[in-house]
Amino acid sequence: MTDNAVNVARLSTIQDDFDTRLTALLAWEGVSDKQVAESVEQIIDAVRSRGDAAVIEYTNRLDRMQARDMSELTLDAARLREAYEGLPDAQREALAHAAERIRLYHQRQKPESWQYTEADGSVLGQKVTPLDRAGIYVPGGKAAYPSSVLMNAIPAHVAGVHEIVMVVPTPDGVLNDLVLAAAYLAGVDYVFTVGGAQAVAALAYGTQSIPRVDKVVGPGNIYVATAKRAVFGQVGIDMIAGPSEILVVTDGETDPEWLAMDLFSQAEHDEDAQAILVGWDAAHLDAVHAAIERLLPTMEREAIIRESLASRGALIQCRDREEALTIINRIAPEHLELSVGDPEAMAEGVRHAGAIFMGRYTAEALGDYCAGPNHVLPTSGTARFSSPLGVYDFQKRSSLIHCSPEGAATLGRTASVLARGESLTAHARSAENRLGDT
Ligand code: NAD
Repeated sequence: MTDNAVNVARLSTIQDDFDTRLTALLAWEGVSDKQVAESVEQIIDAVRSRGDAAVIEYTNRLDRMQARDMSELTLDAARLREAYEGLPDAQREALAHAAERIRLYHQRQKPESWQYTEADGSVLGQKVTPLDRAGIYVPGGKAAYPSSVLMNAIPAHVAGVHEIVMVVPTPDGVLNDLVLAAAYLAGVDYVFTVGGAQAVAALAYGTQSIPRVDKVVGPGNIYVATAKRAVFGQVGIDMIAGPSEILVVTDGETDPEWLAMDLFSQAEHDEDAQAILVGWDAAHLDAVHAAIERLLPTMEREAIIRESLASRGALIQCRDREEALTIINRIAPEHLELSVGDPEAMAEGVRHAGAIFMGRYTAEALGDYCAGPNHVLPTSGTARFSSPLGVYDFQKRSSLIHCSPEGAATLGRTASVLARGESLTAHARSAENRLGDT
């Protein structure tokens, strides 16, 4: 071992215990900390019963603020515009470029209402309606995330949401102008500088100053995730996000240093993030491992990356691309990078992944900021049943049924038989009333 030796698991599918080791690697407890759950419950109860006063109290205590009333935790549209206009040109242009691309992508996602007419003149359809009010949680405890503002607020705006309410903690009262400028660009209506469970509770139940919303979306730490789970039902939520993950598949032809950096780009998020490489060329995996050891000391967030790779990272050698596909679908990764010469052919076999980055030139980092698709993605294997955040998360569907007299007669006979079979006489008679003379 050299001084730079990086402790990252080397797994091979030919090992007898490969399955057990992979299962252990993927295990993630999720939101299950009892102490956190208790304190979140307390915070939610306090906000429900005391509104603004509790929000101010917790914000002052947890984010080291000295607010006396909610006006000191509220930013108006003029302040957001001022932040945008005051940005250095390069930042303003990059933000505007990213926002434009995210908007164009999400405009294509917009589901439309539809209907069709049957031979007897009855009309059936589906009416799509935006949410009245969406609440967007933008994390801000340890870092600021302007890209999260764009990724959450733009789909809401494209969906036609009437009011977008954003909450973002500002520890020690430090405002991040890029975050505020992103809110301006994305069409956010209100910003409150509060975070954690108190912000989620305020959005879910409403306070004297913070309007109650219909759905709370956005990533956050364990307090935020636990609070979202607790208020689900009172409001909608997008998902319970776990730590970020990347699965990179290599055919042995991509520059090992590119692959090492792609793995780091997830690992640097936090110690619990997961970065895994899968390939069938043993010498190439060795080369990536060597590149990891060479490059890690040059990274600003070396300690976090080192810990993430040691606790949850892996380099997996498989027999061939078929076996790589089996592993992909088993993991159902949040981010899947297909660093291979024929990504289209390989993607055909991918059934579960939050986002698929195709080919050697598509670094996952581009998707985080500005490619266009959403960076809020299902984690911890939930890509088996859920999808990226999108316009559809900010809309709901109503069914439409408009019977002609003939249609009412045809359906009425069927409904009557079924209703009487269930002994629901009012249902049956209600249908029979409209049978007419037929
Ligand atoms: P955060 O805004 O999620 O949490 C900060 C809040 O946590 C504080 O305002 C405070 O109210 C609350 N809190 C902190 N300690 C507490 C305690 N002891 N008791 C009660 N409440 C407490 O910010 P963060 O902590 O920086 O976490 C952000 C998370 O979001 C990170 O895990 C990051 O990786 C993740 N993230 C994910 C994405 C994505 O798209 N998946 C994007 C950006 C960030």
